Amino acid sequence: MSTTLEGRRALVTGGASGIGAACARELAARGAHVTVADVDGAGAEAVADEVGGDVWVVDLSDTRALDSHELDTDVLVNNAGLQRVSAIQDFVPDDFRLVHRIMLEAPFLLVRAALPGMYERGWGRIVNISSVHGLVASPFKSAYVSAKHGLEGLSKVAALEGGEHGVTSVCVNPGYVRTPLVEEQIAEQAKAHGIPASEVMAKVMLAESAVKRLVEPHEVASLVGWLTGPDGAMVSGGSWTMDGGWSAR
Ligand code: NAD
Repeated sequence: MSTTLEGRRALVTGGASGIGAACARELAARGAHVTVADVDGAGAEAVADEVGGDVWVVDLSDTRALDSHELDTDVLVNNAGLQRVSAIQDFVPDDFRLVHRIMLEAPFLLVRAALPGMYERGWGRIVNISSVHGLVASPFKSAYVSAKHGLEGLSKVAALEGGEHGVTSVCVNPGYVRTPLVEEQIAEQAKAHGIPASEVMAKVMLAESAVKRLVEPHEVASLVGWLTGPDGAMVSGGSWTMDGGWSAR
């Protein structure tokens, strides 16, 4: 693996688990000093120990606390997220706001905090972990879909403003990835429909995917690593799907 991030600092939100933990490992393997930011302190500590990085225990839903936060990082991976599922008429307003605070407001505030340092150094990489649901909708996921669509817009604006300062900004848009977030969804759906988890996978999650398996977290992280490297320097403002062909339909 190339050490293209030697001497660079990277911050990964939601780095204690799933895609974020894989990104922390990937960026550290490329030479970056990684800060693992997560509300799960023990999980963040474990990943930081593994990659020789630092920990920032932070609840990203507390967005007011981020208003004046200073952030000195060369690579910012906005990844922390969660899912709330309900029909719009039954959606609990505070659940909607929670999803938006963690998945849209916090990324905005972290980009806002990181840009001055990136501009000063003339180099920065912002990777926003969006979703296929940042590009297409799905019923019952109004908060998630709208937050991810907002993240797509934020990412494009950061690309436009940052370009002349050596800063790129991109979205990565996974389909179903084998992480605790998805395993929770599989278990919920299996229970709701009274069918085994394997059937949920085949009938619901993989039914519309061309490649009949889940994406692995390290595959998403590998794309993130490439985007932060020298070959990714002209890749800005766009959205990169990794969904086994799901969105080709
Ligand atoms: P995960 O549940 O494994 O990890 C999410 C991490 O975010 C956890 O470590 C959690 O503690 C952290 N987090 C949650 N709320 C937080 C808060 N308030 N403050 C700080 N940290 C918080 O999930 P994952 O599947 O790895 O998802 C990571 C990202 O990838 C999310 O943005 C998700 O929307 C996106 N994504 C996931 C999938 C998938 O299939 N798993 C698909 C597309 C997009």
